Amino acid sequence: MMTPRQLRKTAKRTEDENLQFRTFLKIHADEDELDHQFLELLRELFADFDCCKCANCCRKFTTPLQDEEITSISAFLGMEKQDFIENYLTEGEEGPELAAPCRFLGDDGKCAIQDCKPKECRDFPYTDRPERLHSLFSILSYAEVCPVVFEMLERLKKIYRFRR
Ligand code: SF4
Ligand code: SF4
Repeated sequence: MMTPRQLRKTAKRTEDENLQFRTFLKIHADEDELDHQFLELLRELFADFDCCKCANCCRKFTTPLQDEEITSISAFLGMEKQDFIENYLTEGEEGPELAAPCRFLGDDGKCAIQDCKPKECRDFPYTDRPERLHSLFSILSYAEVCPVVFEMLERLKKIYRFRR
């Protein structure tokens, strides 16, 4: 698997190709089969991959928080909810969020609030969700940050015999 630094360079080179592959999938892929393929690749590629060695999503993406997550994280930190909001959160398009890079990311790539980390963090890169055929643009953007998603697209290109 590529390092985030390697990915940054490679993703730039494959940007146009991935856009073409998106169009190809829109024409040729079956919605349910593609969901199944994404799910299988997610299981296979994350099975022996240690995200602490990457942590690129924690560096690059902001994380919107639900109110109950704000409650549980502030309790976990032993802080008053309002103090946590004022000290840790910024106001994003979808409401309060953790800024990027995330302040809870340790030098060792571990999350300091692992026991109550937000759903958005647990679910990333969301490729196990249904109807991926209709959200391929977001998957292309994740492929520029997440080496596993980048590799998923490379594997799919082989499965579909996509000509580069
Ligand atoms: S809360 Fe944890 S998992 Fe989520 S972005 Fe921050 S460091 Fe990463
Ligand atoms: S989910 Fe992707 S971007 Fe985030 S740490 Fe794991 S491999 Fe890296």
